[in-house]
Amino acid sequence: MYGIYVHIPFCVKKCKYCDFVSFPNADDMFDKYIDALLDEADEYAGATADTVFIGGGTPTVLDAGQLERLIKGIRNKFRLTGSCEFTTEANPGTLTADKICALLENGVNRISVGVQSFDDGELAAIGRIHSASEAYDTVNRLAEAGFQNINADIMTALPNQTAESLRRTLKTAVFLPITHISAYSLIIEDGTPLEREYSQGMLTLPDEDTDREMYSDTIDFLAQHGFTQYEISNFAKNGFECRHNEKYWKCRKYIGLGAAAHSYIDGKRFYNTSSLREYTEGNKRSDDVTILGEKDMISEFMIMGLRMNEGISGAEFKRRFAKDLEDVFGAELKRFTANGLMEKKNDRYALTRRGIDVSNSILCCFV
Ligand code: SF4
Repeated sequence: MYGIYVHIPFCVKKCKYCDFVSFPNADDMFDKYIDALLDEADEYAGATADTVFIGGGTPTVLDAGQLERLIKGIRNKFRLTGSCEFTTEANPGTLTADKICALLENGVNRISVGVQSFDDGELAAIGRIHSASEAYDTVNRLAEAGFQNINADIMTALPNQTAESLRRTLKTAVFLPITHISAYSLIIEDGTPLEREYSQGMLTLPDEDTDREMYSDTIDFLAQHGFTQYEISNFAKNGFECRHNEKYWKCRKYIGLGAAAHSYIDGKRFYNTSSLREYTEGNKRSDDVTILGEKDMISEFMIMGLRMNEGISGAEFKRRFAKDLEDVFGAELKRFTANGLMEKKNDRYALTRRGIDVSNSILCCFV
């Protein structure tokens, strides 16, 4: 069973921190791009999928008719299961009533809203196009329209953010009709406007200790309000874990459609050109294909699986690699378990809360 990722590389305006493949002011390309994307989908026609994720960029810059054409096209090309999780990302400030209607009527059953913060100063500092109240209203409008599975993306370690302001954002989020929260720290990427401001000393960012404290507070606060952490950066109400993202963490196969989209099929990784022109002119796929050997697959299985609170299963490891987990990583598992960074429950190893705090240094031991 595949997951399908669909990349819509268009935005109203670039956020200051963004290094994703997304292009502002490219409205005249939308229709051509959808045509090219549905052409690409033909290559996989008839494949069965149980998750679809339309991400970006900002998929909701497309107008209602374009969204409908895209979603219907995907539905026609693939065999989607009856319980298929079908997510679209949405940016507050782009979701009109007719777009919400087009998403609902065409079977989108999960929406991921790029809230980032409920503090207008923090949103302005990172160059988001919307205000806190627009984000708030967007979530409420989606719920009123009938969406029952809504994610809010939240960012931490933002310029001028404090533990108190993050707490206010989380407090606002948990009282909204949402089922899932993704909370990622801001990363200052090379070549972005934010990096230039940072290098010129124009930004005040939370220090490492404050960042860690914020992360720890986030886990506790969300747990108190019914959002259980199930992955390092993801929290869900019971039964609302994102099944599409679980495919990545569990190293399952997925098809990526669109410019810059990556695919993982039968142990091969490959990706599409990031150039809009090349993609729409038919020169879609990069020749760069990585065939993962057993060692790579084992490393990925460990690194991705340990991001999840459920951890990794010895039985699953054996089924995939015909080896005992303890024979391959016995020393590491013993060391991390002995010093309280990992715990073993039945046949599963998972990071403890202390282990999650230092996850980067633990995960690199499995490379
Ligand atoms: S909305 Fe997302 S993809 Fe678009 S510019 Fe902002 S961060 Fe980048």
